[in-house]
Amino acid sequence: MKKWVFLLVVVLLLGYEAVQHKMEDANGSPEHEEAKVQSSSSAAVQTKQGKLSKQTIAIAKDQVYKGKLVLVNKKYAVHEEGIQSDVVRLFSHKELIKGFALLDNTIRLSQDVTKSFGEMVEAADKDGVRHFMISSGYRNEDEQDELYQEMGSDYALPAGNSEHNLGLSLDIGSTQMEMNQAPEGKWLIKNASKYGFVLRYPKDKTAITGIQYEPWHFRYVGLPHSVIMKEKNMTMEEYLDYIKEQKNLSTQVEGIPYEISYYRYSKNMTISIPDKQRYDISGDNRDGIIVTMYP
Ligand SMILES: [Zn+2]
Repeated sequence: MKKWVFLLVVVLLLGYEAVQHKMEDANGSPEHEEAKVQSSSSAAVQTKQGKLSKQTIAIAKDQVYKGKLVLVNKKYAVHEEGIQSDVVRLFSHKELIKGFALLDNTIRLSQDVTKSFGEMVEAADKDGVRHFMISSGYRNEDEQDELYQEMGSDYALPAGNSEHNLGLSLDIGSTQMEMNQAPEGKWLIKNASKYGFVLRYPKDKTAITGIQYEPWHFRYVGLPHSVIMKEKNMTMEEYLDYIKEQKNLSTQVEGIPYEISYYRYSKNMTISIPDKQRYDISGDNRDGIIVTMYP
């Protein structure tokens, strides 16, 4: 009798397991497929309920690893999808080289970042500061590895853990003198944030960044983030923690209002955004999605 009860329990358990698997097969896989399709196009999808005032954006996991705000340091490595898709060899794009020099003809950088750099250089020119040079831009992993072996861990990061591997960072020099003395360096420290750039490794933040003061290394994060970081004297590490803690932030830069929201990534997540709203989405390269809305 006892044996019979035991067998019945076993049979029931096995049956339950099988049903569970079937349900996963039926529900799990198609959802995965759908998420993949939506992520590759990053399409804004109208809700089917006919509500025209909101759009629903499907967020795929890879969004965490791409965008202008991804954190890259010793702890957080570059993901393939985080590399900017518009990186070009600047020497072959003369239209992008306006008012500044290139250290050599191999320098590569995101076209968008180069355009913002060009606007910044133009503004500096009006202040009489006009000897800028890009000495390094995008580096692939082999180039980063070579540099790491040469410079050591205080000044360089291992391959895959450098912002230079993203195409969003550049080393800026002066054709006249060293950056910590050059008017170009001083001008940038004061003004770069207005153009979306931040001094990534400041003198007073080496304990947080883990990298020595680099007056030449600038990272593009875009507006309004660069301005907030400068105002609050925050590194990217601190700023991303701050957004995560605040969840929602409002700010104005040059009279333009911005709304910043942080969402912790979860499977099959969607984000609702007012229709016709202009926005930018970036991951933080950790676990979060940051949405920046502007008019
Ligand atoms: Zn650098």
